[in-house]
Amino acid sequence: MGRLDGKTALISGGARGIGEASARALVAEGAAVVIGDILDDEGKAVADDLGDAARYVHLDVTSPEDWASAVETTVGEFGGLTVLFNNAGIANGAAINRFKLEKWRQIIDVNLTGPFLGIRAATDAMIASGGGSIINTSSIEGLRGTSWAHGYVASKWGLRGLTKSVAVELAPHGIRVNSLHPGLIRTPITEGIPDDMIPVPLGRPGRPEEVASFVVFLASDESSYATGAEFVMDGGTVNQIPHK
Ligand code: NAP
Repeated sequence: MGRLDGKTALISGGARGIGEASARALVAEGAAVVIGDILDDEGKAVADDLGDAARYVHLDVTSPEDWASAVETTVGEFGGLTVLFNNAGIANGAAINRFKLEKWRQIIDVNLTGPFLGIRAATDAMIASGGGSIINTSSIEGLRGTSWAHGYVASKWGLRGLTKSVAVELAPHGIRVNSLHPGLIRTPITEGIPDDMIPVPLGRPGRPEEVASFVVFLASDESSYATGAEFVMDGGTVNQIPHK
């Protein structure tokens, strides 16, 4: 018996990094998973590797049409939709007086409007499936301010707020909504960041699997009383007060 037997999940940005690790962990616990991404070759390879319990769909999270067809595929292939993992995200940065409007719009579009479109597209299917769990990947940057990361920080605070308001609205339908707040996790998005650039009390960056274990927990009925909550996995980073 897996912890997720009978669950059907849709993951955005599932071709690599935290999304890929989560797809693998969900399937290992018995869920059926639809992997959505814009990296078609990588996403198909992950789905093929996972076998009958996984499918791949092209999903640009900024496209309402892509979301509609991803939800349709999930319901058509696996009979329902009980877990939505809004994981796709991008990072950029610049000093505030040099931050290009185009870059601001791009990051808000992918990191905040993307999850909004996903939740909007998935809600009816999740209600028809008897409820479920929505998991939104914010960041520790959704809990604090950081120079040069204004668009990223604003998008991740926005997603944290969206999580809380949707959690209240969808609770009567048995849909729980929570946010994840990872610290530095070793994935392609953080390749250029040296291990010692950010002081981490636990002394190392995290692994994608260490985020995926929270995704499994939040997707499962083990977290049945958690909604509108923030789950932080950062090795203690955001909690520390720097000494002079
Ligand atoms: P990643 O390895 O870059 O994976 C993200 C995936 O999302 C990539 O396959 C990426 O494709 C895809 N993606 C980008 N734009 C997309 C779009 N418009 N539609 C669909 N997919 C899109 O990054 P990750 O580290 O696993 O990050 C996953 C999530 O965790 C992100 O939301 C990130 O902000 C968050 N996070 C990461 C860390 C960390 O330290 N790694 C910390 C806190 C929060 P492309 O490569 O083509 O962009």
